[in-house]
Amino acid sequence: MDLEQLWQAVLGEVEVSISRASFTTWFKKTFISSCDSGRFIICVPNIFTKTWLEKKYDKEIINAFKNITKEPQIEIIYKIETKKPETAARSVSQTPAIKLETAGGALSGLAYRQSSLNKFGLNSKYTFDTFIIGKNNELAHAACQAVVSNPGQAYNPLVIYGGVGLGKTHLLQAIGNELAKTTDKILYVTSEKFSNEYINEVRSGRAKFLKEKYRNVDLLLIDDIQFLGGKDGTQEEFFHTFNELHQANKQIVVTSDRPLKTIPALEERLLSRLEWGMVADITMPDLETRIAILLNKSREKNYHMPDKILEYIATNIESNVRELEGVLTKLITYFEFNNLTPSLEAAKKILLETFTAYQQTSLTTKQVVEAASRFYNIEVRDLLGKSRKKELVKPRQIIMFLLREEINLSFPTIGQELGGRDHTTAIHACNKIKKDISDNERLAQEITSIRQLLKSL
Ligand code: ADP
Ligand code: MG
Repeated sequence: MDLEQLWQAVLGEVEVSISRASFTTWFKKTFISSCDSGRFIICVPNIFTKTWLEKKYDKEIINAFKNITKEPQIEIIYKIETKKPETAARSVSQTPAIKLETAGGALSGLAYRQSSLNKFGLNSKYTFDTFIIGKNNELAHAACQAVVSNPGQAYNPLVIYGGVGLGKTHLLQAIGNELAKTTDKILYVTSEKFSNEYINEVRSGRAKFLKEKYRNVDLLLIDDIQFLGGKDGTQEEFFHTFNELHQANKQIVVTSDRPLKTIPALEERLLSRLEWGMVADITMPDLETRIAILLNKSREKNYHMPDKILEYIATNIESNVRELEGVLTKLITYFEFNNLTPSLEAAKKILLETFTAYQQTSLTTKQVVEAASRFYNIEVRDLLGKSRKKELVKPRQIIMFLLREEINLSFPTIGQELGGRDHTTAIHACNKIKKDISDNERLAQEITSIRQLLKSL
């Protein structure tokens, strides 16, 4: 067995003893460089990986070595070394705009978001390579890969659903980016754009053009399908498009920020079609995966953020990946702009300031109602109205709950603000939601999503 084979065998053992996310993150670019009677030098790409392997996986690695080599004493030395440092460094250093962007005082990290879109409107950064797999998304990820290897055959349609900022668009576009290598007939649209196009074409009497455009593709990717709710004409158009593509074994993939059944006013026949294939959900990544994502993102940005800081961010941001990334970007921007060596202390201070600032901007009832209205695709006047239809009652109760939790309004005020309802209704609503959240994960996720929306208002 040569050294390379030995390392592969060790990796094989380690792989089964730790999670897949950790494995791909921490062992991807490692190799073995030498051995000298029980002393092995393992090369790793950077200091994070080095520290992480030393701290967390040393035991697993040593055990695997012992099992395979039967040597009683094993010593491992981790060394930072990459096989092709030149090319590796260059391929990720495409973020020159950072200092310019921050000169205006905005620490928004917009510079990073403006990555290039290809001719299909796909972000070239959203690939499988840059997607970190964890327990929260491995099913969705595997389904996407199956679609790529067998478009139109494996799962058709594939539906990916999950809360805001958890990687749905990333995966959807990764499919597009991958299949773009073999076909040109790819369409990526948000359901809003699809709907607008439909409406415009009907208006201008050119609906045929749209049919040709959409029914002549190998791969149709529709993002945020939840916005089709209540748009009857568009749903009808989509229904026919769907049927034609499906019959011709053309692949359809859609995302939704909520379970399909909970999309208000989504036609039954469309719902049943969408459930024909595979429905995979994505949830919030666990701590380990969050760290892995941050690590990857800072590498993408070609920045060495100490792992203490990454751990700190991952521990404190539990809302979604987009926010995780936002905070990381903010810190990188801050450190780079001010020419500072990153320190945990400074990181803590900045994050604290950010959150306090957020908490101090007072939310108004109007914003809460608006966020819920947007999320459930229900008109504000209906939410505030008298109707007690089931699909209105729940969102209304959630609004009351949020008014209590987020703004600390009194029960009578909540009742008053929500179309003049009695304070007992508000009390009941808050208690009910509070109780339901604990054993209804979907509800909890919906509320998290609305809180997210609130932040962006
Ligand atoms: P969604 O469409 O679910 O709202 P996005 O796909 O836009 O979320 O993801 C938000 C951000 O988080 C993107 O920048 C995306 O690259 C990143 N992201 C989410 N999940 C992952 C992951 N597992 N690995 C790497 N990046 C991720
Ligand atoms: Mg999205």
